[in-house]
Amino acid sequence: MPELPEVEVTRRSVAGGLLGARVRDVQMGLPLRWPLGRDPGTLVGTDCGEMSRRGKYLWLPLSRQGRDHASRLPGLPRALADGAEPAGGLLIHLGMSGALAFGEAPPERGRHDHFRLVTDRGCLWLNDPRRFGAVVWSPALDAEPARKLLSVLGAEPFDPLLDAAGFHAGLQGRRTPVKTVLLSGELVVGAGNIYACEALHLARIDPRTPANKISRPRAARLLAAVRQVLRNAIEAGGSTLKDFSANGAAGHYQEQAQVYGRAGQPCNTCGSVVRRIVQGQRATFFCGVCQKH
Ligand SMILES: [Zn+2]
Repeated sequence: MPELPEVEVTRRSVAGGLLGARVRDVQMGLPLRWPLGRDPGTLVGTDCGEMSRRGKYLWLPLSRQGRDHASRLPGLPRALADGAEPAGGLLIHLGMSGALAFGEAPPERGRHDHFRLVTDRGCLWLNDPRRFGAVVWSPALDAEPARKLLSVLGAEPFDPLLDAAGFHAGLQGRRTPVKTVLLSGELVVGAGNIYACEALHLARIDPRTPANKISRPRAARLLAAVRQVLRNAIEAGGSTLKDFSANGAAGHYQEQAQVYGRAGQPCNTCGSVVRRIVQGQRATFFCGVCQKH
């Protein structure tokens, strides 16, 4: 399932092509996890702004050019020109199996392409065989339905306002194993299973350690490790564990994983055997020698 790095890689791969593009047509396939919540025809004629990301959600703001300005500012990207009126935006989630792509000459509509945004610069399409993904219109990020969907998310991992003291305080309030806390995304989003395993290995913390037993220095180390692992993953194009791709490109982070998927193999740090256990119905990989309670 696409995690935060894969979603960020996706954003980077399609945002440039979409910026300033004018919507010509919106094509819907089979129902996704949530309905669009808007007559697709009302999006025609709007201009795409700069796509952003919050957690695993992508936000594509739309605007409608004020009539007076349409001809007056030909040099400016349309979405950035004065007089553009906000026309809400699209909140996009890749679910379990979604992949977004943008192409000037897109392939013929595939069986699993359940959303296509046709613009004057190319087509953005969501391929999602399992249909847990979603494209939802919202008047703004801080208005319903986007506000409610985003309100449950923990801090962004690269948010400078998230510091070790705050992260440590959050851990102190929880008795569940630290791996489970990371996966929940309640304190910080982004540490999906492979990244949670790798961050705990990098921070040398046993994944079974109760969160409230983690000292302040170890919490600081863990937060730094989460950031490092996510940064590395984004640089590697994300992880392709099954079939993820961003604009057609697979990720390669899984090839540099130190523990994830390596049960029975020697730990690269100490040579002990990497172990696999199950926590909260998810596989956890760790080294019982390097990683301590
Ligand atoms: Zn080890």
